[in-house]
Amino acid sequence: MNIYADPAFSMATEQFRVIADYLEIDEKLRARLLLPKRTMAVTLPVQRDDGSISVYHGYRVQHHLAFGPTKGGVRFHPGVTLGEVAALSIWMSWKCALTGLPYGGAKGGVTVDPRTLSARELESLSRRYMQEMIPFVGPRTDIIGPDMGTNEQVMAWFMDTYSVYQGHAVPEIVTGKPVTVGGTAGRREATGRGVVYLVERALDVMKLRPDKCTAVVQGFGNVGGVAALGLAFKSGMKVVGLSDESGAFYREGGIDVAAAETYAKKHGSLAGFTEADPIPSEDLLTLPCDVLVPAALEAVITEKNAGKLRCRILAEGANGPTTPEADRILAERWNEIFVIPDILCNAGGVIVSYFEWVQGLQSFFWNETEVTDRLFRTLEQAFSNMTRRARAAKIPHRMAAMAIGVERVLAAKKARGLFP
Ligand code: NAD
Repeated sequence: MNIYADPAFSMATEQFRVIADYLEIDEKLRARLLLPKRTMAVTLPVQRDDGSISVYHGYRVQHHLAFGPTKGGVRFHPGVTLGEVAALSIWMSWKCALTGLPYGGAKGGVTVDPRTLSARELESLSRRYMQEMIPFVGPRTDIIGPDMGTNEQVMAWFMDTYSVYQGHAVPEIVTGKPVTVGGTAGRREATGRGVVYLVERALDVMKLRPDKCTAVVQGFGNVGGVAALGLAFKSGMKVVGLSDESGAFYREGGIDVAAAETYAKKHGSLAGFTEADPIPSEDLLTLPCDVLVPAALEAVITEKNAGKLRCRILAEGANGPTTPEADRILAERWNEIFVIPDILCNAGGVIVSYFEWVQGLQSFFWNETEVTDRLFRTLEQAFSNMTRRARAAKIPHRMAAMAIGVERVLAAKKARGLFP
């Protein structure tokens, strides 16, 4: 029985198989490289405001320990499964290795729709999750961060629960926490900022001017929201399409992203936004545009729509937005679409999380300019390594990025032996 059986895990497995074949990795080493080192499943009872008890399932998966501790976010979403969490931990590993961070990948999740919980219930669930994880995580073993459905406040509850248990403040146990409790300047914006930086680098390579380009962004949360604002106001692009869970919107002349953000903050979502035309959600990704940023869920670019994408740059803000079948189609369209694969495109979050962890360990904090400069330098190195390798070996960007990541993990495992 495969305890990880799940479409996302199948995606991660198939992507790995392609790279392992390409790198001619010995069959005997493959299971060791792919399968997570440790997995924990917990049951989380929460007392509801009406006095009843709801029971949720929570997970944490640590993929490999070859470089040091593991690192990864915790997702609160109704679609969370153990297999999805495992897939996300594997993608984190290749991402950390590609960007040169001393971490293996990890991920956590709770199968819950956080919008159905009151603030007190959310706090109770968050604290209970961290309480159950205490024997399993630590600033030198596994560092937690935010992902879909969790935020700075949830990280503060995680940190507090862990710290109460230790008897002193342990800010290094989580990243993405508020600056007031040891968070870093620039963490909230890091992933979206990284997306914008890499889009500008891709435009540069393609000799396109950002202010002449259009963009479409799927997802309007932490990643999609910051990316959309950056593409509009920093790069000067016309953002013609936007979406969130409630629906999709289009405006040929450009959407006022700041107005959309104000609206979504006030109403909780874009539902009812009138400054753009509602369109069917499934049409968003195939809108004509220069830059397409999927920044919501996995597996949204499939064999059904990959041939219909009408963008010049696909900037994967989300984790795993493109299925392996769609990837084969995109590989054939390599001269039409410049793919910035997820493990590079959304790496800004974990890079600045790494900076936050380092600052916490040293109790020595940097200002936002230092954080952002170092973020861009780290991304630049990974971007140029990926594009150089892709050009030299005549392979797609995803394959080049994954090959660099997988090779680094393999080299560390070989150097250390069987344990990690
Ligand atoms: P978030 O919870 O802040 O926002 C998610 C957004 O996606 C929301 O606007 C939600 O309404 C929207 N959404 C959900 N389902 C949708 C659907 N079916 N169609 C359109 N929109 C939909 O989450 P986030 O932190 O922005 O994460 C988004 C993606 O980026 C995830 O894949 C996550 O793993 C990845 N990611 C996040 C970070 C980070 O630092 N937050 C870092 C790396 C990768």
